[in-house]
Amino acid sequence: MARKKSQDGFPTAAPFLPERLTLPSLQRAAAGCRGCDLWKNATQTVFGEGPSKALVMFVGEQPGDYEDRQGHPFVGPAGQLLDEVLVEVGIDRSEVYVTNVVKHFKWEAAQRGKRRIHKKPRHSEIEACRPWLDAELTVVQPQVLVCLGASAAQGLLGKDFRVTRDRGKLIPSDLAPQVMATAHPSSILRAPDAQQREQQRAEFVRDLKKVADLLSKKNVSRAA
Ligand code: SF4
Repeated sequence: MARKKSQDGFPTAAPFLPERLTLPSLQRAAAGCRGCDLWKNATQTVFGEGPSKALVMFVGEQPGDYEDRQGHPFVGPAGQLLDEVLVEVGIDRSEVYVTNVVKHFKWEAAQRGKRRIHKKPRHSEIEACRPWLDAELTVVQPQVLVCLGASAAQGLLGKDFRVTRDRGKLIPSDLAPQVMATAHPSSILRAPDAQQREQQRAEFVRDLKKVADLLSKKNVSRAA
């Protein structure tokens, strides 16, 4: 299917959205998305996963090499670190929905070998993919939205957002009742040495503890 563009000529996933928004219908429709060019070099669409009424939604940048091959979000080393820290801070994985601002893996070939190297998505690609995330937010209606890393944070909270400056703070936003940003777990794994990795992991734990505290408050639990 040829790529469709919005009326103003920019690439967008909008024409591929189903009429009825449910997680299964979105997942099926997203599998055939050609809203921008990123599908061409990826194995498959990697849509968000989790309960349809999850209390918290984590949004990363894009699927990585593992996720692209397996078709599920946050199943590689970064996902394992996220899972580990969720357990550590006491967030129940069954209350968590995980997704990305971009649903296809963007990569370039390593100069030597066959490795596929992650390539940061362009702002236009994040914007093109945004209808999927908006639909996920509409269906799931999380009480807490957590942006993981700069691409997600700047894509959702504005280009001027700085994770280094504003991580762990509650950000006023109409995307969810409580919105926060923190580092992406893959950046912790890329830390240059063990000491910095430990420090960054501790900061990540500190931020996710705040999310756990928010979830434990009555005002973010689902009405019975
Ligand atoms: S990255 Fe998003 S908009 Fe682009 S083709 Fe994939 S699902 Fe569609």
